[in-house]
Amino acid sequence: MAEKREFRAIKGTRDILPPESGLWNWFEQTAREVFETYNFREIRLPIFEQTELFARSIGTDTDVVSKEMYSFFDHGLAELEWRRGDLIGAQVMHDIPIQRHDFVESATRLLDAFDRAIESGELSDTPENHRAIQEIRLASQIVKSPGPHAGPGISSFKAAVLQIQTAAWKLRFGDQVTLRPEATASVCRAYIEHGMHTLAGNVKLYYIGPMFRRERPQKGRYRQFYQIGAEVLGQSDAPGIDAELLEMLLEFFRRVGLDETTLYLNSIGDKNCRPQYVELLRAELRKVKDKLGADSQRRIETNPLRVLDSKLPEEQRVIEEMPRISEHLCPECREHFAKLKEELALRGISYVENWRLVRGLDYYTRTTFEVTAKGLGSQDAVCGGGRYDGLVELLGGPPTKGIGFAIGSDRSILSIRETGKAPTPGRLTVFVAWMGSKVYPAAVEIAKKLRSAGLSVEVPAEERKFRKFLELADKLGARYALILGEDEVATRLFTLKNLADASQQKLNENELLEYLESERRGKGA
Ligand code: AMP
Repeated sequence: MAEKREFRAIKGTRDILPPESGLWNWFEQTAREVFETYNFREIRLPIFEQTELFARSIGTDTDVVSKEMYSFFDHGLAELEWRRGDLIGAQVMHDIPIQRHDFVESATRLLDAFDRAIESGELSDTPENHRAIQEIRLASQIVKSPGPHAGPGISSFKAAVLQIQTAAWKLRFGDQVTLRPEATASVCRAYIEHGMHTLAGNVKLYYIGPMFRRERPQKGRYRQFYQIGAEVLGQSDAPGIDAELLEMLLEFFRRVGLDETTLYLNSIGDKNCRPQYVELLRAELRKVKDKLGADSQRRIETNPLRVLDSKLPEEQRVIEEMPRISEHLCPECREHFAKLKEELALRGISYVENWRLVRGLDYYTRTTFEVTAKGLGSQDAVCGGGRYDGLVELLGGPPTKGIGFAIGSDRSILSIRETGKAPTPGRLTVFVAWMGSKVYPAAVEIAKKLRSAGLSVEVPAEERKFRKFLELADKLGARYALILGEDEVATRLFTLKNLADASQQKLNENELLEYLESERRGKGA
């Protein structure tokens, strides 16, 4: 007998069940509607991309890239992969012949498997792989007969083993790919790949979908989470673009009932002024290094801006004393920020300036922002975004300006629920209680008509006692039971029972449709 096993959703992932899924659809649909009124159009992107795309854009010193990505080699050459693993993991001593023999055997097996993969066309013979394979072949000869057991013999033996292991490491059997931790990099990749810079005006795109980060799961933080994002790419970095994007974002939050949000705003400069500020900050942080925790101490060297993100209570006083970027912006960045504030005032958008808002990802320049919402505890950021002029170029495209945001759907929906502003989920309108196999075809037919009129209808596929049907209709939350017996079918007069007050009425088909449709419009059923 097969072992009994309970499968569960993987840690950090979860199922979104009805009726909550209805809330999600409404939330995403509202985003589509609002964004389209601002002339944004949807882009559907792949869920995985080359690892290099994220490493290059997000930055290797960020938490996302250094420890949170789900990456794997995308090829069917498992044998090559584990033979290579064998070889790299082996420890060999020159004076233990059996180890030498095994190591050379492993190398030969890898070479054979490589040749087979090339022959079968599963692997292409790139110059880099070719070179690595040659190195392994040559060095294997030295390992096989290591020469005199002293002096240069041993060092050339050691060098040969190392050479084989290094060459094996360099072999590429296919792309290393990553489940996307965010989608801005993909949007930029698509922008370049499809030559979208030749399109008229700014390219305004939005996306909706899951992202993956191997974070420590907690309330409002998951390993598979969902984002709704929007990006504007093009030649212009006019502050009006930033302001309109923020207007659209806040309009969306207003439409979904998330009106008690706070918009935090900052400018983190550009390539002309930020490097100097980062150096200044680093120098100042070094002076107070011993007052900071281990994480911040490390970040002084790797990514000092991230120290400003710290939430540790004991670090706050020290950080507050640090130089502020707003005092070190170049004239162009200062002007951009000032204009942005005018544009926001024009739109009646209020915000809180926060000089410590630097965002975790490397690609941001100038405008950065975050929105927080109520009812979420420590994970209260529901949206983050900013400008990323230069990112497209960094990924091999033409000079391009860009700005965008990503809304965290999980947290936004959590907040909407906790503040009690979630709309009531869609309800079943009609339960067709049919009696007798003779009337079943009429039940199927009327259900089809009601459904074409957009009503939600349940027709049980198996007959039960009338009383049981009514009980079931009640449990399913139906508003009405449509009672179909032989009489009703013969006279074409249907009995509609209101399940809330048990009142009944007899209606012909047209009256029935008309009545239910007007009810639906009135009640939003
Ligand atoms: P980021 O892409 O890091 O700028 O995040 C943008 C928004 O996505 C955040 O403000 C969160 O609302 C949401 N988010 C980011 N990471 C997670 C996660 N692990 N779980 C749930 N939501 C997340």
